Amino acid sequence: MNPQDNKIICPDCKSEIAKPESMVVGDIVECQECGTEVEIQSIEPLVYGELIEEK
Ligand SMILES: [Zn+2]
Repeated sequence: MNPQDNKIICPDCKSEIAKPESMVVGDIVECQECGTEVEIQSIEPLVYGELIEEK
């Protein structure tokens, strides 16, 4: 797999989201640009998706 794929890209604004140092499945990372929350669904391979939050 391309190492570039091991990045978290915001599904909303396509900015790269900094990965936490120790990331586990279920972690939520937040886009610094637009505030979109992304849930980590798998580490290896890296799978993630936008967290749909009920308001
Ligand atoms: Zn974003």
